[in-house]
Amino acid sequence: MDFLPIFLALRDRRCVVVGGGHIAERKLALLLRAGAKVEVVAPHVSEELLRLAAAGEINLRQREFAAADVQGAAFVIAATDMPSVNEQVAAAAEHAGVLVNVVDQPGIGNVVMPSIVDRSPVVIAIGTGGNAPVLARMLRAKLESLIPQAYGELANLLGSLRERVRAAVPDGVARRRFWERTLDGPAAEMIFAGRRADALASIERGLATVDQERAPEGEVYLIGTGPGDPDLLTFRALRLMQNADVVVYDRLVGDTIVDLSRRDAERIYVGKSRDRHALPQEEINHLLVRLARAGKRAARLKGGDPFVFGRGGEEIEELAAAGVAFQVVPGITAALGCAAYAGIPLTHRDLAHSCVFVTGHHREDGGEPDWAGLVRPQQTLVFYMGAASLARICERLVTAGMDAATPAAVVERGTTLAQRVVSGTVSSLPTRVAAADCKPPLLIIVGAVVGLRDRLKWFEQAVTLRP
Ligand code: SAH
Repeated sequence: MDFLPIFLALRDRRCVVVGGGHIAERKLALLLRAGAKVEVVAPHVSEELLRLAAAGEINLRQREFAAADVQGAAFVIAATDMPSVNEQVAAAAEHAGVLVNVVDQPGIGNVVMPSIVDRSPVVIAIGTGGNAPVLARMLRAKLESLIPQAYGELANLLGSLRERVRAAVPDGVARRRFWERTLDGPAAEMIFAGRRADALASIERGLATVDQERAPEGEVYLIGTGPGDPDLLTFRALRLMQNADVVVYDRLVGDTIVDLSRRDAERIYVGKSRDRHALPQEEINHLLVRLARAGKRAARLKGGDPFVFGRGGEEIEELAAAGVAFQVVPGITAALGCAAYAGIPLTHRDLAHSCVFVTGHHREDGGEPDWAGLVRPQQTLVFYMGAASLARICERLVTAGMDAATPAAVVERGTTLAQRVVSGTVSSLPTRVAAADCKPPLLIIVGAVVGLRDRLKWFEQAVTLRP
């Protein structure tokens, strides 16, 4: 290790930035965030620095650097574009025993500024010893995506409870176990979901029963996993999948997505298989309650979005009634995913001012949609679960007054590498789809916007280019 990573307390300490351009601006912004009193020395300074000085945020010395400037400073940054000046600053600082960073000139100065992930009070600093700043930035981007924004708030909450927990659980080992249990349980996730009061209540409950070695609290995550491409998962979905002890999934969620769950998580398939029917919805609901009551964190994975034709509502109604903690993670619904990957904008200033999601699966008991209401000018229609009734849907639309030449398309297995799109008009589509032998899951999109696809399609071409 060539450098020792440390965190510097700079609140109300005098820090000197030499240089008056954009780099100086960027560096001093960090110093200001750390509460430092910033002094800028430069003969010529940017508009922004003048503004900051006028606002009293910084002290400006509009002149050449002099060695005496570093006297008594807590930290100095040389940020000019003149190597000789930077060297002069570094020499003066080192002579005065002051820490100094020189921007973009490895080898001089004694401080390297890290890339940082700021979830104050949690801060992660990444350094490469000045060798590869770009690598540090890439690593930083990865961490940014993995660490929830509310991490700082979690740390603050834990900090505020520290003394109380120390008093309630004097034994050090027991206390560590208590914190581990708390961070592993629903409290942390509640904070990430913005539910501070619930998190506090959950920790209080844990604290009240700390001697009773209770089973941990379980929780259900109802997660929308998008239409198929694993890249379309949200950060939260991925994090909770990594958190879960059990994963409950069905046919619409592909293996590539299920495989992103924690490696040692138990997997329960509740969809249809060749020798078995799908688990009835009520049994899935009961299963989720049972798992949570047994203290498990169960991820219920749903294709697309759980609240769009996903029966997610029914599953959590049961959880709510049973008093089980749960949270819902939205996913990219098939209509959005398929439309984007097929090059069909669902709305358009000239062609479509509204878009309706309709189920194509109509119950025997007469739950037909209001066909006349669907046939409106400048409205895009998206039918889910319409594979078996494509011909009937197209026919009803025309009977209800839709122009038979209205563009329409079927997107089969949208967003996956197996995506196929068959387009035509409401009159020609059924025959074309039958000829192409499309299989579910497929989505039907109807409306003038489908005509844009010829110009806007991009995804299948990308696929055919793959080896
Ligand atoms: N909750 C899901 C929808 C479940 S209903 C969502 O928000 O997307 C199942 C229907 O979704 C299928 O019959 C099909 O119409 C559609 N669907 C889901 N994934 C699809 C995909 N990758 N390509 C095309 N249609 C899809």
